[in-house]
Amino acid sequence: MLRTLHARLALALLGLLLPLGALFAWATLATSQRYFQELTQEINRELAANLVRATPDLMVGSSVDPRAFDALARDLAMTNPGVEVYILTETGEIVGSSVPMDQLRRKQVALVPLRRFLAPEARFPVFGTDPRRASGEKIFSVAALEPGYLYLLLADQQRDSVIRTSQASAALRLSLWGGALLLALAFGVGVLVFYLLTRRLRRLSRAVSAFQAQGFVLQRPLLEAEAAHDELGQLQRAFAEMAERISEQVQGLKQLDSLRRELITNVSHDLRTPLAALQGYLESLQVRRGRLSAEEEAQYLQAATRLSQRLGRLIGDLFDLSKLEAQAAELNLEAFPVQDLLQDVILKFEARSRESGVRLALDCPAELPFVRADLGLIERVLTNLLDNALRYTPSGGEVRLSARLEAAAVALGVADTGRGIAAVDLPFIFERYYRAKTEPSDGEGAGLGLAIAERIVRLHGETLLVASVWEQGSSFGFRLPLA
Ligand code: ADP
Repeated sequence: MLRTLHARLALALLGLLLPLGALFAWATLATSQRYFQELTQEINRELAANLVRATPDLMVGSSVDPRAFDALARDLAMTNPGVEVYILTETGEIVGSSVPMDQLRRKQVALVPLRRFLAPEARFPVFGTDPRRASGEKIFSVAALEPGYLYLLLADQQRDSVIRTSQASAALRLSLWGGALLLALAFGVGVLVFYLLTRRLRRLSRAVSAFQAQGFVLQRPLLEAEAAHDELGQLQRAFAEMAERISEQVQGLKQLDSLRRELITNVSHDLRTPLAALQGYLESLQVRRGRLSAEEEAQYLQAATRLSQRLGRLIGDLFDLSKLEAQAAELNLEAFPVQDLLQDVILKFEARSRESGVRLALDCPAELPFVRADLGLIERVLTNLLDNALRYTPSGGEVRLSARLEAAAVALGVADTGRGIAAVDLPFIFERYYRAKTEPSDGEGAGLGLAIAERIVRLHGETLLVASVWEQGSSFGFRLPLA
């Protein structure tokens, strides 16, 4: 039970309130006793003086008349049973006592309290020597004799406790009960307040446990309600944010894992077909060595070379794509002039465009500001786009590579007058392995070129856009920020 914060706080409160209660009880008892002493002394202030007046024969010259003293002590014992009577010399020495002299532990009474008592502005209670005890003091009443003092010790030990009990039975008991009730109430309110304060913590702890039980994947937000703006609220918000991040990361990891599996499956499938064909050609060359014509041999070798090139490209593409998809490819951002890049790319495709009878045009102003991007990766994007454009544009068509300045960016575009992309294919062309329905299944491409280009542009924080009309041509475009 003591494992909860709430229980611990309640226990701490109890630990605080109990001594407080004891202190209150002690203070109540002590003040009530002191009040009683003050009252008793005040009431009996004139007692000694009255006795002196009522017993004029108490002193015979400078000594006490034993008979008169005994009579006085007897009378007093009857009317005020708890009172002790002493006759003191001027120096405070006890010369007469209602208590047998051999029972006295002290024979000398301090004079200072007596003087304080006799002073007109005396403040009670004033405590005087209790001769029956080696130490300790009691309230008293005193009057001057000629010479010495009549010293009356009021209420003895026994009577004190009787008084205390009688007090306790009435007002004192009421006050003690009141105090106890008040403390109990404070405890109750404290426990309730702690309960309310720790309720949010408990809710948070339950939510975190549930989050853990769900394998650190959030099905819904960690906290349903908006957190308050106090420290607990901050903690709740921090936890909610943390849970969201962890959930995202766990999901990302899971996704990556399934992607990796899928990739391995796809890769093995993609590689197997060209590899089998390559093996076929090589085996034929080996088995039929000497029986093939030079022309056939050259044909087989050419096919094998093409297949091995395709395999190499495929492996490269797959590797690049997996790297890009895992976001592992770190951008190597640098400032460079776009014109130079476009020139290089055009050069790369010039021969091929001439061969296929497609006009390759460059549409780029002479002066363009530098852009900031990963040069190598952007070249890859343009290469993939141009490669596709040339592949899908028949002889006599045109492929146009363009660049122009826009607000704070340079917009790059690759447009062709080729066969275009059917509307049914358009939404999917950036997906991995997606090839248009019209494509022959054993064609050159593996459906990776656009996926790679799109990932690269996305890594730059931009979007690769496409517009295409079937049998009219396609155009791809993206922007690069200025350096
Ligand atoms: P592939 O390597 O098979 O060409 P891509 O990812 O580069 O794969 O392209 C996906 C599909 O998009 C292609 O199969 C093709 O049908 C279509 N496509 C891409 N670029 C063009 C284009 N310029 N003109 C027509 N179709 C295109």
